[in-house]
Parts: sequence; C-alpha cells; structure tokens
Amino acid sequence: MNRTHLHLLLSVVFLAVCGMVADGKQPPRTPSSGAQGFALVVHGGAGDYRKVPQDQIRAKRAAMTEAIKAGYNILAKSGTSLDAVEATIRVLENSGAFDAGRGAYYTRDGVPELDSAIMDGGTLKAGAVAAVQHIANPISLARLVMEKTPHVLLVGEGAEEFAKSQGVPLQSPYYFFNPREWERYQKLKATNGKSDALVAPSTEMRGTVGVVALDQAGNLAAGTSTGGTTWKMPGRVGDSPLIGAGTYANNDGCAISATGVGEFFMRNVVAADICSRVRYLHVPIEQAANDVVMKELVAQKGEGGIIGLDRQGHVAMVFNTNGMMRGVVRADGKFVINVSQSQ
Ligand code: ASP
Repeated sequence: MNRTHLHLLLSVVFLAVCGMVADGKQPPRTPSSGAQGFALVVHGGAGDYRKVPQDQIRAKRAAMTEAIKAGYNILAKSGTSLDAVEATIRVLENSGAFDAGRGAYYTRDGVPELDSAIMDGGTLKAGAVAAVQHIANPISLARLVMEKTPHVLLVGEGAEEFAKSQGVPLQSPYYFFNPREWERYQKLKATNGKSDALVAPSTEMRGTVGVVALDQAGNLAAGTSTGGTTWKMPGRVGDSPLIGAGTYANNDGCAISATGVGEFFMRNVVAADICSRVRYLHVPIEQAANDVVMKELVAQKGEGGIIGLDRQGHVAMVFNTNGMMRGVVRADGKFVINVSQSQ
C-alpha cells in the first residue's frame, strides 16, 4: 500500500466515524479488553449472623441458590446485566427469607416500607422507589420508573399510583405478613426498640439483597432491594434506593450494591465513591472498596459492606461486620454461598 492509498483509507475511516457521530449513533460497544466473560455477584445483607437460627440460614441459602441460577441463566444466554439483576432480585424478594419484598422488616408502625433501585452502567439510566407498602417486587417497579418515566426516584403513594398505571398489582398488607417478622416486631414494640432478643440494634441489619452483573456485551448493572433497618421510623428512606449511595453502576468505573446502616452509606456516598476511585484514580476495585468500607466507614463506626464488579470481571466483596451473605457466579456456572469471613 503506498502513501496515497493509506491517506485514502484513513480518510474513509475518519469520515465513517464522523458520520456515526453526526447520525447520533455511537460506534458499536465492544467488550472490555481482558473481560472474563460474564459474572454475577449477589449479597443477602451484612450484619451479625451468629444468632440467626440455622433454619433461617438454610432458607436464605436455598433462596440465594435459586436466585443465582435465575441470573446465571439470563447471562449465559447472552441476556443483559439489567435483566439478570432484576430477575435475581425478584427471586430473593419473593422468597420471604430476606429483608426485602415479602420478608421485609416492619417499621415502628408494624408495616413494611420498601426501597429499591436499579441502574444500567452502559447508559447511566436509573430508576428507584422508596417507602412503598404494597409492592411485591420493588426492583421491577424501580425498573419501570427508569424505563417509563422521565424521573429517577418515586416515593410512597405517588410510586404506588404509578404502579397501578402500569398494571402492577397492589398487594394487601397480608401479603407481607410473616410470623418471623411479626414476632420480632412485637418484641421490639414491647421494649421500644431495645429488645434483648436482638443482637444489637445496628447489627440486626442483615437481609437487604443486592446484585451486580457484567454481561457478555461488557455492560455493568446494579440493583438493591430492602425493607430497611430494624425499627426504622415510618417514612425513613435508606441508602439502597439512592443512586450513588447504596446502588451505582457506570461502565467507566464499576457496579456496586451496598448493605448496612444506610445513614453512613448516604453520608459517604459509598457506591459512587468506590466507582470514582476506580474510574479516576485507576485503583483496583477491591482496594477502592477496602479503602472506603474498612477505613472510612470503620473510622465512623458505619457498619456494613458492599459487593462490586468492574468491566474486567474483577469482584469485590468487602464488609466490616461479622458476616455478609454473598455469592459469585461466572461463565462456568460454579458458585459457593458464604456467610462469615471464612465461609
Ligand atoms: N442499607 C439498608 C438501609 O439502611 C439496610 C441494610 O442493608 O441492611 O435501609
């Protein structure tokens, strides 16, 4: 190829790229270099699991196993990380085994108020709902907010009106009745939130669910769903539905779902902080998560943890509590669910 040919070729390539930009079309997205196929990471809440009865742990493990398989099946068939996050969280919400969906903790008024968010790391689109009382799957309503409204976060009655307009059924309070939570609520009520039956008010949080995923096209997504903290005031909203605090995804950084005492995660904008360190300081995700969760949060006595993924498939699962239920699955389909530091 002589010089003239080379110039001609470069001009054609240049004009083709300009054309795409002028059309408003982006060049096709390519998987990130070094991507290890797809991956999905799930958590079932950080806290102290030592006093959780074994039958409850077994129920959580069974539900998480089913949830991971649901997410894996989507990613293995080239589905999107967004679909995988939603499907995985729906299983956990429906199980009643976690502080989310049907198993959610009650507020001081004895009713659940649910928070959830979902975010697409490829487009930065996000949707969230907070303080909803009659929605079986807040993660799916959050996705509808993302896809069907110009907004990011809808709360309370407005969110439920929107649900109705989308054909999402409103559940009666009985749907959310479960003996485990009712008993806990009665103990808390009798002692005004200071029941000895609880390990300690803050370490009682251990049942929020969250998922981060990387799909075969190289896109990240994150989602979180929760009933919030034990004995929370009616109307209290935690970090989970707040984009950047408890949930965040950006292909240029990472995807994070957090769990713990939400007020600390809100004040420290934990999810966005970790992803910004990855994005701007080029710090490995595990180190960024350690710096935020094990140093900054610990210094403030902010209990909790995170799961995270970057576009190369690097995983972070970091918590400063006694335990965090968690699991990772990759293309080979193998996974282990751990609860404490070592197992
Ligand atoms: N972060 C949640 C909240 O503060 C609770 C949790 O993760 O256990 O609402």
